[in-house]
Amino acid sequence: MKRIKKNKPVLVTGANGYIASWIVKYLLQKNLTVHACVRGIKNKNKTQHLLDLTKNNKGKLFFFETNLLKEGSYDNAMIGCELVFHTASPFKMKTQNPKKDFIEPALKGTKNVLKSATKTKTVKRVVLTSSCAAMYADAIDTTKTPNKTLTEDVWNTKATEKYQPYSYSKTIAEKEAWKISKKQNKWDLVVINPSLVFGPSINPKNNTSGTMEILEMMTNGSMKIGAPKSGVGVVDVRDVADAHIKAGFNPSAKGRYIASAHNTDFLEISRLLIPKYGNKIPLPKKAIPKWFLFLFGPIFDKVFSRRFVLNNVNIPFNADNSKIKKELNIKFKPIKETMEDSIESLIKSGLIKTKKQKNTYVR
Ligand code: NAP
Repeated sequence: MKRIKKNKPVLVTGANGYIASWIVKYLLQKNLTVHACVRGIKNKNKTQHLLDLTKNNKGKLFFFETNLLKEGSYDNAMIGCELVFHTASPFKMKTQNPKKDFIEPALKGTKNVLKSATKTKTVKRVVLTSSCAAMYADAIDTTKTPNKTLTEDVWNTKATEKYQPYSYSKTIAEKEAWKISKKQNKWDLVVINPSLVFGPSINPKNNTSGTMEILEMMTNGSMKIGAPKSGVGVVDVRDVADAHIKAGFNPSAKGRYIASAHNTDFLEISRLLIPKYGNKIPLPKKAIPKWFLFLFGPIFDKVFSRRFVLNNVNIPFNADNSKIKKELNIKFKPIKETMEDSIESLIKSGLIKTKKQKNTYVR
């Protein structure tokens, strides 16, 4: 049972990120002091939105320039902190170099952050942002678990450096975190495993999360021919941030927590948006047939390899979110609200131009 004092600074790695910016916002709203770790401290595009969050509260924000790949990089930022949120880890849909782009920052970063936590006398708890990707590689895996539902007991055993490398990076990084945490008893580890995160972005124009790539694909017309009916879990970014805060401050929080609000698929997600945006944005309206993706997917886009198509398209995803609801009292937002708020945030920032403005997604 770790009780975190609210008068001590809280550290957030990758503080400018999509999910982390909401965590910072909620910490500042609680009038806490945040040690925000970012890569480029002078890059206003990545930091100004966080400074703006300090305007209407007594929370304090201090930036620290850090890098996941540099040993000792987090030592200074951690001084005096009891609670550490380790969110930083690259999430992208594609890469030419999985080792450099996903695996090294995920694994080395986790080792470095946790090494600093062990060295720093004050640290009592680390909350790690892992992913449901550390639990399964393909939707079909969720159907092969007991009760055909993903639970906190399940690990991803299929992802490799070559197949689903992002999922592999999250799996080995989380495993390493548990291994390191068990070698000491100064701080405890609590892990949040979100499914696919949607919802408004605090800094949409400079958001580099894979979430934005998916929203871009769904709204720029490239899925006009249809969306794959691939099973996924969806959760709101504000609920994920809330879960992190509760995992940090609730003394009895323990173990892994699946943060996934809805079992759905890409076509269903798009259909939720059609009543409000169908005339303005070229959203996919029908399912792209599995045989078509199987034949042509690998040619169009490496995301749709034949193995991926076989194991995901027309296959449901099921996750059990009862632990996080019961132990952390998370009340998930309705998926329609999450998806509409995602689109509104992109329209407001000018990233999605609606029909009158030309029908395009601008990057
Ligand atoms: P994001 O906005 O791209 O955040 C990633 C953060 O990691 C950024 O702040 C990035 O900094 C930082 N980072 C990357 N490489 C770094 C390095 N070498 N040194 C220091 N910082 C580095 O993506 P996100 O979606 O919020 O993801 C945050 C976490 O949530 C990740 O652990 C991800 O795996 C997890 N997650 C995301 C989702 C989702 O659907 N979005 C779902 C499940 C889990 P820069 O801005 O400088 O690049």
